[in-house]
Amino acid sequence: MKKSVSLEEAQSLLLDRAEAIGEECVSLLQANGRILSQDIKAPINIPGFDKSALDGYALIAADTVSAEPSNPAQIMVVDETRAGFPANSKVVPGTAVKLMTGAPIPEGADVVIKYEDIIRNGDVISVFKPLKARDNIISEGEDIKRGDFAAAKGMRVNPGLVALLAGLGIYQIPVYKQLKIAIMSTGDELVRPGEPLRTGKIYNSSLFGLMARCAELGAQPIDLGIVPDYMQSTCARIAKGLEVADIVISTGGVSVGDYDVVKDAMVAAGAEIIFWQVAMKPGSPMVAAVRDNQFVIGLSGNPAAAMVTFDLIVIPLIKKLMGIENPLPVKVQGIFADKFTKASPQRRLLRAKLERKDGLDYFLLTGNQSNGAMISMVECNVMLDIPAGSGAVISGQRVTGHIVGNISSVYDKESDLIYERKNA
Ligand code: AMP
Ligand code: MG
Repeated sequence: MKKSVSLEEAQSLLLDRAEAIGEECVSLLQANGRILSQDIKAPINIPGFDKSALDGYALIAADTVSAEPSNPAQIMVVDETRAGFPANSKVVPGTAVKLMTGAPIPEGADVVIKYEDIIRNGDVISVFKPLKARDNIISEGEDIKRGDFAAAKGMRVNPGLVALLAGLGIYQIPVYKQLKIAIMSTGDELVRPGEPLRTGKIYNSSLFGLMARCAELGAQPIDLGIVPDYMQSTCARIAKGLEVADIVISTGGVSVGDYDVVKDAMVAAGAEIIFWQVAMKPGSPMVAAVRDNQFVIGLSGNPAAAMVTFDLIVIPLIKKLMGIENPLPVKVQGIFADKFTKASPQRRLLRAKLERKDGLDYFLLTGNQSNGAMISMVECNVMLDIPAGSGAVISGQRVTGHIVGNISSVYDKESDLIYERKNA
């Protein structure tokens, strides 16, 4: 067991032990938000044939070279077609086929002119200007070609990708299994929200925040409830979690107080402690343990401290187990646009929000920064990394932040990178 590790050590100690969990196939309807476990290549071209981009007439561009308003090209309409129905006739010089958007381009034609640009008289249309071959034709394979990467392993499926895969006719999607995360809170003072609160008691907030975070990541949270501060009950609840989940997370009871029994309970449940305590504030009380490819994580009882360690240390572990290739939070440089007067003898993480103005990233604190304060978690989308030994942080100072929460996808360029790399 390592004691008092750095944030980076904590991250890599866990990532080194983690391997992506197994794969399964799910239907297109269930695939949104899941992580692809295999590359997917296009089995067909999209479109599968040259097709018309609009309602008009398919003809031969060469027939219109000398067309002008005073001397239009006169073309004979020989057939008509629409989306889903190939024309029966070929287009030969001097002829055209009327068609609707999406209809296959008839053999022989190399351009489409829209209805509004011609005048029709009986079966003859007049074209008033020379046409450029391929205009208004969507070429076979223009969207994606057979054999191209449609999507790469490690990408999160989004609605756009669902549409693309559907367009390719793929219905069964290979994804990593949904990660199960069991969450429990230790503390004799805790009461479940919705129940009456007696003096000295507090509502259990961390459990719900963490469950919501897990669900947002696409994992399945399992509610293990509140556990009293006793070794046996804590150990039994961890063991119960290990029966049903890939990760068991508990909050509270990881400091050095008389009732801080979580670390011993983990060992009693058969897990090996990897590290205890992280050299940062908030979030120093944290313990991580492993049993095969199952993890047991103890976070601080203080809700903000639990959130900081969860976002920066546990989420990368979750992402790696889910199969995401680059699971660490994205770092961003920005300008501090607030004031924080306290010195930071220890490395400090400040809850802030990132705002982009005129192409520059600015950081504003989201409120009370104490370990227990929850108000500052609401708008937090970046955690500012203030090095140990820093004085007050002043407005205009450049600082580094870790992107967290719901804007992470905006800054999470990993999927794009995989995509570009595979298609290069
Ligand atoms: P602990 O880490 O158990 O020493 O708890 C640290 C502080 O966080 C104490 O003030 C606890 O009452 C509070 N706390 C512990 N667990 C929770 C929880 N699940 N939700 C909200 N506050 C908590
Ligand atoms: Mg406690």
